[in-house]
Parts: sequence; C-alpha cells; structure tokens
Amino acid sequence: MSDCIFCKIVDGKIPAAKVFEDDDILAFKDISPARPVHVLVIPKKHITSLATVSPEDSPILGKILAKANEIAVAQGSPDGFRVIINTGRVGQQEVPHLHAHIVGGPDPVGPMLKRI
Ligand code: 5GP
Ligand code: ZN
Repeated sequence: MSDCIFCKIVDGKIPAAKVFEDDDILAFKDISPARPVHVLVIPKKHITSLATVSPEDSPILGKILAKANEIAVAQGSPDGFRVIINTGRVGQQEVPHLHAHIVGGPDPVGPMLKRI
C-alpha cells in the first residue's frame, strides 16, 4: 500500500531501527517507546489488522509470535514481555498495518488494563 507508513518502512522509504527481519516479517524499535524495550513486529506484506486477516495469513501470524521471545531477550527483556496487538477503532489501533508490540525491559510492564 503506497500510503502506508509501515509499508514504507518495509520498502526502505522511511528509516527504522530494525532488530530482525526475514522474508516474511520485520521487527523494528517503536519510535516512541512506552517501555525500555518496545519493538514492533509486522508482516512485510500489507495486512491492515487482525480484523482483516485471511486463513492464508496464519503462518505469518504464527511466525510473529514465535519470534517474540527471541526478539525480547535480544533487546533486553530476558525475563518475560508482553505482546499487544491493537485492532481497529475499539482496540485504538493508530497505524492500519498489522503490528505486534513487544514491550518489556528489566521491570514488570504494569497492569494489563484498567478494570471496569
Ligand atoms: P498502534 O496504536 O497502531 O497499535 O501503534 C502504533 C505504534 O507505531 C505507536 O506505538 C507509534 O509510536 C509507532 N509508530 C508510528 N509511526 C512510526 C514510525 O514512523 N516509526 C516507528 N518506528 N514507529 C512508529
Ligand atoms: Zn502497510
């Protein structure tokens, strides 16, 4: 998608601090980190969100999750981490290219959500 900011990162048109990539996925540091470790992992092909995935996307989604621990440990979160995938309006997704946030660091990341 030509006007998608994360597709532009995949294409090298916008710089990013890459921490891992293979043929299918790319991981790079979030530009505005919420925790000492904050990496975004994206499919290289444009998928808008978890609300628009197709069955053929399952291997790529699996790859993103299967790589999360390796990325977290390498970035300085050896004792666990949290994965967040914001989806659509209710999930308050800001960038409409599917991405998993990997957040962590030396200390616990905090409560999951404010309870109702
Ligand atoms: P969302 O709210 O869509 O789940 O998260 C989007 C994330 O993308 C935010 O944490 C934001 O800081 C990050 N982000 C937005 N634009 C850029 C960019 O150009 N480069 C990088 N590295 N991160 C970005
Ligand atoms: Zn895209």
